Amino acid sequence: MTEISGKLTLDALKQLASDGTIDTVIAACIDMQGRLMGKRFHINFFLDSAWEETHGCNYLLATDIEMFPADGYKATSWSAGYGDYTMKPDISTLRVIPWLEGTALVLCDVLDHHDHTPVPHSPRAVLRKQIARLETMNIRAMMASELEFFLFRETYEELADGARPTPISAYNEDYHIFQTTKEESVYRALRNGLNAAAVPVENSKGEAEAGQGEINIRYADALTMADSHSIVKNAAKEIAWQRGHAATFMAKWSHERAGSSSHIHQSLWSSEGAPLFYDAGDARGMSPMMRHYLAGLLAHASEITFFLAPNVNSYKRFARGTFAPTKAVWSDDNRTAGYRVCGANTEAVRVECRVGGSDLNPYLAFAALLAAGMRGIEESLPLEDMFRGDAYSGEGREIPKTLPAATAALRDSEMLRAAFGDDVVNHYVHAAEWEQSEFERHVTDWEFRRNFERS
Ligand code: ADP
Repeated sequence: MTEISGKLTLDALKQLASDGTIDTVIAACIDMQGRLMGKRFHINFFLDSAWEETHGCNYLLATDIEMFPADGYKATSWSAGYGDYTMKPDISTLRVIPWLEGTALVLCDVLDHHDHTPVPHSPRAVLRKQIARLETMNIRAMMASELEFFLFRETYEELADGARPTPISAYNEDYHIFQTTKEESVYRALRNGLNAAAVPVENSKGEAEAGQGEINIRYADALTMADSHSIVKNAAKEIAWQRGHAATFMAKWSHERAGSSSHIHQSLWSSEGAPLFYDAGDARGMSPMMRHYLAGLLAHASEITFFLAPNVNSYKRFARGTFAPTKAVWSDDNRTAGYRVCGANTEAVRVECRVGGSDLNPYLAFAALLAAGMRGIEESLPLEDMFRGDAYSGEGREIPKTLPAATAALRDSEMLRAAFGDDVVNHYVHAAEWEQSEFERHVTDWEFRRNFERS
């Protein structure tokens, strides 16, 4: 088989089909949870017609993580008959997936089946809308979402009955080279596989908990980065699974362990490539635009939290002394604050949002951050004083502590309603309420262990 890698044009795919190198194309859209959802096409059928469009049930953007079609969405329902959406392959995302034999992947936009307009609550459309707003201002957003996750000794199948997973390492492996050498069968395959799939990995590293690692991808425009983020998550699971390990992107898999984050680095550039966040004349090299953007993130921090922490479990990550923040304050290179300025006094000056967990949907998270930042720019919001010291114990704006608190802030957000549209906000409010009501209905392991004998 020929060694192939990278992005593909349709012509290149045809060539690889004719010599038998590629026989399968995955066409996937992104669901509300940020997962790849779609179909595997035989190459002949893909090249014949599916490259232009295919379709999928519209419940894909109205289910919970277990694929339960909850009632109450305006966009689709049992009474509307759960019809189809059009899945339109974005050929600019077509690429080889080297860790799956003979396979290519293309990501799809989700369109209305009848009039082919974008489905407004589909995550790629939500982000595209904010990117388009920026474009009218001649601005390009560059993002990087670092991804942390845990790797376990067992397979998913061995853990399916609720057995306690064993982290792949026995100790905190933050920056450790020796411990991570022991995990190279997964991480080397992941770095090289992703690079060959046109996802430019900068590095992987051990993280600050037993079994925890991180993958960093080179920053890119917001849509490319969100696509990369989704592919990284899927790749980590597939490559770990191929080697007999389970990987989790739960924000907090155990109350005894630190959680997993997805820190989001953000900077704005002109369409011509000038760094709009940089101003050599400022003490930190922060331009007025950067200050207004950051002020917007802080002013709307509670409203956007749901998109950074979308699950009941996400809120368990916000714990003192774990490097996950509890306060929406800003600082210069201080990892206790929710919003950290990095690269001060350089052209790479940027803001890192540390609020998000590894369970976030990158399209929605980027879109919410950009909307908040844009509002700050539009209103020339002044930036409050920088936080100094340990933000866990200091005074400052709290991050909502529960999913219902974040949901209430989302519901009441005039800023997000103006940026995303009422229907989109209401759709995600409903998703959040469903998640919470499911949690409330279930008896947890903790309640069972605590009360079964002793109550
Ligand atoms: P940290 O110390 O937080 O790990 P790094 O220097 O490793 O920071 O960079 C983290 C991420 O920030 C990387 O994915 C990198 O590509 C990205 N990054 C670098 N410069 C920028 C920028 N100007 N805008 C957005 N992201 C950037």
